[in-house]
Amino acid sequence: MNYPDIFKRGKFSIFVPMIKFWYVDLFNLILDNTDNLEKYLELLWQETKTESGHQWDNPQFFVSNSYGDLFTFNYYKNNLRIWDLHDFIVSHIELTSDKEKNKEILKEAKENMDIYSKGKIHCSDCGKAEEYKNIVSHRYFAGIYCDTCWNTKWKSIEAKENYS
Ligand SMILES: [Zn+2]
Repeated sequence: MNYPDIFKRGKFSIFVPMIKFWYVDLFNLILDNTDNLEKYLELLWQETKTESGHQWDNPQFFVSNSYGDLFTFNYYKNNLRIWDLHDFIVSHIELTSDKEKNKEILKEAKENMDIYSKGKIHCSDCGKAEEYKNIVSHRYFAGIYCDTCWNTKWKSIEAKENYS
């Protein structure tokens, strides 16, 4: 931690360190270290936290796709979850012990990010890809829903929530 004091408040940094991967590198890491990557990422975050003087345990992992869009992700128990920067889930895949099968599964995560970059997002219920701007208000916690699923099911569930 040898940067100038202007970046510190007391002994802690005033900035939040981010760890960003290009999706190709992240997916290769996952393919080659499916069962150990969770541990490696934890070590990487702890090291980054120490080196930057960051105070909080809020891992900041990001992945960019070929459109240059930035997403957050976590990798937990061989599950890769990817969110947009508004915390809406873009992709959730579960890896297996079969590397060839995992290549196919990871393609789905890439496609989901690319669909998002083209202005679409998958309905959290039926999976249909919809224009993001058309369903942006159909939200319930981390879910976002197409017109059909929102009007027949999720709208009334959301209405019963009291958010207290
Ligand atoms: Zn739907």
